[in-house]
Amino acid sequence: MARYIGPECKLCRREGSKLFLKGNKCLTDKCALERRSYPPGQHKERRAKISDYGKQLREKQKLRRIYGLLEKQFRNYYEVASRKQGVTGEIMLQLLERRLDNVAFRMGYGVNRIASRHLINHGHLIVNGRKTDIPSYQVRVGDRIEVREKSKKLKCIREAVDSIARRGGVPVWLEVDHETLTGTFKQIPNREEIGMPIQEQLVVELYSK
Ligand code: SF4
Repeated sequence: MARYIGPECKLCRREGSKLFLKGNKCLTDKCALERRSYPPGQHKERRAKISDYGKQLREKQKLRRIYGLLEKQFRNYYEVASRKQGVTGEIMLQLLERRLDNVAFRMGYGVNRIASRHLINHGHLIVNGRKTDIPSYQVRVGDRIEVREKSKKLKCIREAVDSIARRGGVPVWLEVDHETLTGTFKQIPNREEIGMPIQEQLVVELYSK
């Protein structure tokens, strides 16, 4: 699957907000946005006042970059959400949160979504007893997500688990045993439980034009 492979910190500097793409580094004073709060590029341009369209576009880019998706994949989530009954923005966030790479990240198996995606691609995770190597797999209520027995001693997983508290801990809609590295997707999170500092209605406005 195609994905962005450029420098992640540049994306935060472009958006002018912390997207937490690097894991633990984002929580230290080594964060590039803390050091250089101006946008990337030669001219150190100041952040100009932006139009309503610009705001919608920036919000969409922010959300897309948080989940590490390309435009087409990201838009698909909007298309699916807009066909369902309910608040489109919230449904879109729920679909994004139910991606296996996101759930693995939230459970603490990876320090960020990129690391979790690597774990899945390399077959380190098991869903309901079966090896699953599809990062976009939509996790359902009751699904059991665990680290494969052979992979439980992997340094990157142990380090990620040990530092989960620093990243805000495991959300209430998941249940994880960090000793056995097994977890359950208990319920679909509501907007409050997702807790993302994003104005998703701007994304919906942008796509619904
Ligand atoms: Fe963004 Fe993290 Fe880089 Fe800071 S360290 S700029 S939050 S990716």
